[in-house]
Amino acid sequence: MSVIENYNEILNSVKEVSKQANHHVDILAVSKTQCVEKMTELALNNVKMFGESKVQEAVPKIEYLSSKYNDLEFHFIGKVQTNKLKKIVEYFSLIHSVDRLDVLPLIDKYAHELNKKQNILIQINIAYEMQKNGIDPVLLDDIIKSALDYKNITLKGLMFMPPYEEDVTKNIPYFKQAAALFYKYKNDTFNILSMGMSHDFKEAVMCGATLVRVGTSIFGERV
Ligand SMILES: *Cc1c(COP(=O)(O)O)cnc(C)c1O
Repeated sequence: MSVIENYNEILNSVKEVSKQANHHVDILAVSKTQCVEKMTELALNNVKMFGESKVQEAVPKIEYLSSKYNDLEFHFIGKVQTNKLKKIVEYFSLIHSVDRLDVLPLIDKYAHELNKKQNILIQINIAYEMQKNGIDPVLLDDIIKSALDYKNITLKGLMFMPPYEEDVTKNIPYFKQAAALFYKYKNDTFNILSMGMSHDFKEAVMCGATLVRVGTSIFGERV
């Protein structure tokens, strides 16, 4: 199947599950490691949102695609490294993976220099014995408060990635915990819950995800 056929299949399945879950869900096409030709096939068919995890790889693709297609949005989903942060702020409309407090002043500074307001999500770590990335939920109150202090940052919600499980039903309790945290703070601005990937997006949507990050099922195995 072609990339756009795969995308449309995911879209239909997301629509079906989100109808059951009774809320709108967007799809982020995770294009990391994938070639610009496959991304073009989607852009030609009006797909607007792409996710990348490496700055160096993403920048040329973003420059090329943005010069040809309007209104594309690129989201950063990789590890946020301080020395890459300036480029991340320059090229990405939403950073999903803010996993520590000390990057906030830097994001704010670069956003100010570029005269933009940077949208971010806080990556939370729920199954913390099993993974390292993300912020301990007990710190969430503090982080959400301090994010509000930065004029050039808009905190849009939470991102969550469970440890990999062959049996995706094992992730459901984690998804539910992430959703409970999200609903605690949800308002008109704080309204994105990014969770669910190729193998578990249906479970994530049923638990409350508003944005799913799908790579392999759209583009095929990563190269
Ligand atoms: C690679 C990646 C995805 C996409 O994973 P697939 O299993 O290919 O759908 C989603 N989120 C993050 C943070 C990723 O790094």
